[in-house]
This record gives sequence, structure tokens and C-alpha cells, in this order.
Amino acid sequence: MPQLNLSKQSTEWIERAIFVNSEEYERIMVSLSDDKEREQSAELDNLQKWLDELRQELEQRKIIESVLKSRAAIVAYCDAEKRPRGTSGTIPCPICETGTLHFSRAAYNGHIHAKCTTEKCVQWIE
Ligand SMILES: [Zn+2]
Repeated sequence: MPQLNLSKQSTEWIERAIFVNSEEYERIMVSLSDDKEREQSAELDNLQKWLDELRQELEQRKIIESVLKSRAAIVAYCDAEKRPRGTSGTIPCPICETGTLHFSRAAYNGHIHAKCTTEKCVQWIE
């Protein structure tokens, strides 16, 4: 499990790293020549693997960031409404901004589970 650093700066850094290295990947692709092909193929495989790992990590971070942002919005909403600890309801989804986030918070431990009405948007169970 990669260390979680959910700052906006780190996300931007990863996005920039993918962009730069995608260009590098394209450059290597067009410069392939016969005598260097085997060596560069291995280099390409490594680069592709590295890019895949980076993309996966970015995807994971985005999911976690979405859950944290949604959870904070739910808690802020419940606090503002002075809801009891055990409660349920809906708020506009802060992630896709078009769907509705259905949530439920357990009275006994405060755990929240929630799901957005938009397909493939945020959802989680604590
Ligand atoms: Zn949503």
C-alpha cells in the first residue's frame, strides 16, 4: 500500500509525471530501430509497467480523496442540521456535482456508508 499523501500538490505532481513520461514513451516508440529493438523493447516494457503502476496509484488516490471529500460533506451537513448521531439522508454529490449522495450514519459507532446515484461515482462502507 503506497503511503497516502492526499494533498492537491502531490496529485498534481503525479498527473504531471504521467504526462511527461507519456511523451517520453511516445519518443521512444518512434525512435525504435532494428539493432536496438530488443534492448529498447525491454526498456519500453519497464516504462509501460511503471506507467501502469503510476496510473493505478493515481486512481487509488483519487478514489480515497473522493471518499474523504464526500465524508466531510456529509459530516458538515449533519452538524449544520444538528442531526442525531444515528441518521440518514441525502446531499448533492460533491464529486460529480450531478448525482445525489445517499448516506447513513450508525448511532453506535458513527460509521458512515454512502453511495452516489451516478454510476461509477463515489460509494463506500465503513
Ligand atoms: Zn456523484
